[in-house]
Amino acid sequence: MGKLADKMAIVTGGARGIGRATATLFAREGAAVVVADRDREAAEALAGTLQAEGARALALPVDVTRPEDTERMARETADRFGRIDILVNNAGITQDATLRKMTPEQFRAVVEVNLTGVFLCTKAVLPYMEAQERGCILNASSVVAHAGNFGQTNYVATKAGVIGMTKTWARELGRRGIRVNAVAPGFIETDMTQQVPEKVLDAVRARTPLGRLGRPDEVARAYLFLASDEASFITGAVLNVDGGLTL
Ligand code: NDP
Repeated sequence: MGKLADKMAIVTGGARGIGRATATLFAREGAAVVVADRDREAAEALAGTLQAEGARALALPVDVTRPEDTERMARETADRFGRIDILVNNAGITQDATLRKMTPEQFRAVVEVNLTGVFLCTKAVLPYMEAQERGCILNASSVVAHAGNFGQTNYVATKAGVIGMTKTWARELGRRGIRVNAVAPGFIETDMTQQVPEKVLDAVRARTPLGRLGRPDEVARAYLFLASDEASFITGAVLNVDGGLTL
């Protein structure tokens, strides 16, 4: 029996990177998984792979910034699988620039996906979780939320905001049987960090006690723990998965 047997999970931004690793691990642990991503083809390809491994999986084209998409996501998930146990608010983007160079458009674009998207997806699944009197929300923060990061005014604002929403929802929803937690990864090897100059990544490795970047599956395993019944008394937490970078 997997750790998520009989559970039903939605992973936003599930087609690539950490989201993909999380959707894959959750499926292997017995969950029915909805791969919700704005990249329809990539989401369908992953859902097909998971189905071929024997999992229940569904791809949904979703832009997390559009309320009509997020509401459809919740409705179609509940129609197909009967319930919504876990939402992983993983979709996120960067548009880096120093404060001097950052445009209002860059600021707003990142807020729309990383902050408004988390709000909209959570609001969309909430009626289902409340009706079940049970649910688990997992949010993607980042270690930069604790310390700031050069060139990431917009991104850091959203990742710190995600921690604030996580703690607020943990307070609001605990009595309804819904746990809300965040994961704060350090630098993880995905397409997102491919945009970071190698010089910067070398400096990160040098500052990290474990001496390397993380892998997507290492973040996925943190989500798995928080999603599972093993974390039944954990809510409002922010779990760093950073090789000790923030020490
Ligand atoms: P990737 O860029 O590899 O993958 C992000 C996924 O989200 C992509 O499939 C992307 O689709 C999708 N996505 C982006 N915007 C939307 C949207 N509006 N609606 C639906 N899906 C969308 O990112 P990572 O795997 O690296 O990161 C995942 C999460 O973890 C993010 O929230 C990120 O901020 C956070 N994180 C990552 C760290 C890292 O080092 N990698 C460190 C700390 C936090 P598309 O391909 O179309 O863009």
